[in-house]
Parts: sequence; structure tokens; C-alpha cells
Amino acid sequence: MNQIRHAIDMQRWATQQRSDGKTIGFVPTMGFLHEGHAALLKQARLENDLVVLSIFVNPTQFGPNEDFETYPRSLETDLDVAKRHGVDVVFTPAASEMYPQRDLLASMSAGEAATKLCGASRPGHFDGVLIVVLKLFQLTQPNRAYFGRKDAQQVAVVKGMVKEYFLPIEIRTVATVREEDGLAKSSRNSRLTEGERQEASILYKSLSVVETLIKNAGDSTSSEAIENKWQAFLEENLSLGKVDYATLYSFPDLQPVKDLSAPWIAAVAVQFPSARLIDNVVKEGGEE
Ligand code: AMP
Repeated sequence: MNQIRHAIDMQRWATQQRSDGKTIGFVPTMGFLHEGHAALLKQARLENDLVVLSIFVNPTQFGPNEDFETYPRSLETDLDVAKRHGVDVVFTPAASEMYPQRDLLASMSAGEAATKLCGASRPGHFDGVLIVVLKLFQLTQPNRAYFGRKDAQQVAVVKGMVKEYFLPIEIRTVATVREEDGLAKSSRNSRLTEGERQEASILYKSLSVVETLIKNAGDSTSSEAIENKWQAFLEENLSLGKVDYATLYSFPDLQPVKDLSAPWIAAVAVQFPSARLIDNVVKEGGEE
């Protein structure tokens, strides 16, 4: 396994492989790898000649009062995980490599979809995600790139960018990997206190509640009525965490739900004192 630190070396390597006719599967991450990331690597390994993993905690997707400084990092362990999963190249750039002119020339707008859900409470977050993903695509030149369903809104905005800019890259979505009690695996889980960790499984449980509410909904049941019950369930069961949103939208266009039999996404975010957690469930048939 090769570790590449410089942007130009990454791009030279990828250009060479592509001109040799090799396919590249790319998994972008912020490191502190867990089994969710591993699922992306496994899928990439199955579908491509070569697998590139990037580890980069991207400053432009964090707001001024967010956890950029305290985001968990563990490069040595991550390199072991990458090796075990047959990664060919781990790309570990410094911020100065990714933003060679500071961020002067880097600007993207993720559009209307990014003003909802996480975009509403993290203004500018998805613009930062698009900037770094586009840069990483330029450097790693993948045939396919792998993203987790846990960050469903991220998948939607990245797919939007690929479509808008005609990028010749297939975006592959991988199902959310969970702990035994249903909590979605996340690097930020490591920061939860014991009490917060116990409470955190409520995000997933609340998604099962929503699914049942929708299954039992009659013709006259509104999506607002379902959201209200869902939010009440969360509030009853949370003492440390605070609901950021618990919202039902049509999927993938993220509009208010008119028809509960059409594809939808139920997405939830809870702010705990130590970390903000998100989760979602997408109705079958609403995958693309
Ligand atoms: P992150 O390092 O948190 O930026 O995540 C990197 C990629 O891994 C993103 O595409 C995430 O959606 C994906 N990912 C994170 N957690 C999970 C999980 N529990 N299951 C599947 N994919 C995940």
C-alpha cells in the first residue's frame, strides 16, 4: 500500500493508472475509520482494479463554532485498517495541499437542497463538501466514488454536482452500518459520554417509529401529524440530547411530502453536548 501526501503525486499516479486502462474506486473520508468506512472500501474493492482512500479533515465544511479542532484523528490505526481492506493508495494531504491558494479560488454553491436538514443548521457545510469532493475527484480521477447512505443529503448534493458538471464518475451509495443497538457507526460516536451513548440509540429507534406511523397512516394522515408524533417520541426519550430536526421529505428532491406512498426520506439530527449525530431511513424504491 502506498501513502501519497502531495496533490500532484496523487494526480500523476491516477493519470498513469487510467491511461493503463485500470479502473479506480475512490472512498473519501475524514479518517478515524470504523466499519461504516470499511463497508465502502469493501464495495470499492469488489468493483474496481484499484482502490484509493482519502483521509482529510476538510476545514471548509466546518462552521466557525463546530468541531474541526476536536474531530477525532488516528492516522496510524487508519493506515492499518486501509491495508487490511486491500487499499492501493491512501491519500493524506495537508490542508495547504488541498487549498494551495488558501481558499481564494475555491467556491461552490450546493443550491437549494443544501439549505434543508443539515444545511439549515450548518450553513455553508455542503458548499465546503462540494469544494473538497470536486478537488479530490480531480486528483484521484475515479471511475466510481463511494458514499454512505448515513449522509443521504451529502449523496444527493454530490450527485447533483456530478450531473450539473457532467463529471464522468459513477456515485455509488452504501447502506448504513450500525452498532448492535441500531446506532449508526460514526467517528463522532467516540466522543459521546456513557450517558449520551446510551441515549444515542434513540435516533435509530425513532426511525422505526416513523416507519410504523407511515405504515399505519390513513388517507387523511398528514406528514406534519407524523412528524409531530415522531418529535414528541424523541423529546420524551431524550434528556441529554436536543432534537435539531426530525423531518420527512420526498426523496431525492427533499420537498414536503404530499404522497406517503411515493419515495420519502425520514431524517433526524440530535445535538448532544459532546457531538451532533444524524441518521435517516429512505423508503425502498427511493434509492436513486
Ligand atoms: P466521514 O469520514 O464521516 O466523512 O465519512 C466518510 C464516508 O463514510 C461518507 O461517505 C459517509 O457517509 C460514510 N459513512 C460514515 N459512517 C457510515 C456508516 N455508519 N455506514 C456507512 N457509511 C458510513
